[in-house]
Amino acid sequence: MKNLDVADDTIPCPPLPDSGDYPVVQIEVDPIAKHVAPHYVESVVAELRGLLAGLQCPDHRVAPVVHVEFGSDDDAAVAVVPHDCCPRLHQSMAHALRGVPIFRLVVPQRA
Ligand SMILES: [Zn+2]
Repeated sequence: MKNLDVADDTIPCPPLPDSGDYPVVQIEVDPIAKHVAPHYVESVVAELRGLLAGLQCPDHRVAPVVHVEFGSDDDAAVAVVPHDCCPRLHQSMAHALRGVPIFRLVVPQRA
C-alpha cells in the first residue's frame, strides 16, 4: 500500500477575487488612451487594482468603480475618477492611493 501524495489537496486555495466575499473593484480604462503602450496600461491597472483591492464604502458596502484616464506625454499622472458614491469612499481611496504619486484621485464634483 502506497502513501499517496496528498500535497495537492492540502494547498490552500487563495481566495478568488470574484468569490463574493468582498466587493470587487471595477476599473474602466479611458478608451482614448491609445497613445499609451498596452503593457503600461495593464501594469498601471494591475497596480491600481492591488491598491484598491478589498476597499469598500463603509456606508454602502460597495467596491469602488473607477474610470482611469492616462495623461499626455507631458503629464505622466494617471487620473483615477471614482464613480460617485459618497465622500467616505473617496476618502478611503485617497488614502489607498496616497503612496503612489502617479495616481491622482479626481473626485467628481457634486452638482
Ligand atoms: Zn458610499
